[in-house]
Amino acid sequence: MKVGFIGLGNMGAPMALNLAKGGNEVFGFDTDSSIKLPELSMTSCIPSLLKEVDVVFTMLPSGLIVKDIINEFIGDFSSKNTLIDCSTIDVKTTEEVCEILHKKDIFMLDAPVSGGVKGAKSGNLTFMVGGNNGVYEKFKYLFEYMGNRVVYCGKTGSGQAAKICNNMILGATMIATCEAFALADKLGLDREAMFEVVSTSSGYSWSMNAYCPAPGIGPTAPSDNDYIPGFSSDLMLKDLILSQNAAFETKAITPMGNLAMKLYKDFVETKNGSGLDFSAILKTFET
Ligand code: NAD
Repeated sequence: MKVGFIGLGNMGAPMALNLAKGGNEVFGFDTDSSIKLPELSMTSCIPSLLKEVDVVFTMLPSGLIVKDIINEFIGDFSSKNTLIDCSTIDVKTTEEVCEILHKKDIFMLDAPVSGGVKGAKSGNLTFMVGGNNGVYEKFKYLFEYMGNRVVYCGKTGSGQAAKICNNMILGATMIATCEAFALADKLGLDREAMFEVVSTSSGYSWSMNAYCPAPGIGPTAPSDNDYIPGFSSDLMLKDLILSQNAAFETKAITPMGNLAMKLYKDFVETKNGSGLDFSAILKTFET
């Protein structure tokens, strides 16, 4: 299959490489011309990429960039192209982009991922997919080169909805785990003992069991590597803002998500959290 890949950053590059490893001919484009991936056919612009491929993946930083690309290059898309957007963006922008493409008989799937850079490199991402079911069935096999779990979530935007809800839980449970460590410290409870109890009791969560924010405890995680991401606090803040915008638009009541957003905003903007893994928010509870 001839596949296009736009956005070859921390996530996009390893995903595109896994598609290429699977025997697909992958045409890549990124505005950062310093990105060199000899395993891909790099193209100089989006129109020349679109001419070559049937399906094009995007893995971009924001909804604004995804929408700008579609608006700018809609004339270069043909009905043979299908867009699969794996970026984490808001549901409304996904619906708007889908609408622009539909007017030209072009299908789109939203397919954000969970699993981070580690999962992207090892081909162990989880994809949550929204859009036309027939289009999903047609291209499902492509996700399997990059991930080990693919969940069809429903109509356009439902992949993004699943991602936003998942990461709202993740942000809130990471904060709850960190504040529990802070309280345990004050109570003189050994951190290892705290992990042993909580990870096997009703307080367990992915944040505690698989990604423990306290260094030297539990399986290896970014906390054991000076909080080098992993999944950065900046990206967690971005996803929490997406959740709160969605909650505002739909009038959903999400006080924990809202507080998590405020705490990550403070951590990123005033407490040197930018560039650190999102589990580093533990530092704000230790001081
Ligand atoms: P990144 O910043 O490393 O990569 C984004 C790439 O897009 C960059 O190489 C950039 O040059 C390129 N780009 C920007 N504008 C472009 C344009 N107009 N045309 C072509 N290329 C352009 O970001 P990332 O960590 O790879 O994240 C990408 C997406 O994946 C984001 O939406 C993020 O929320 C999501 N995500 C990231 C992680 C993670 O752990 N990093 C995990 C899950 C989801």
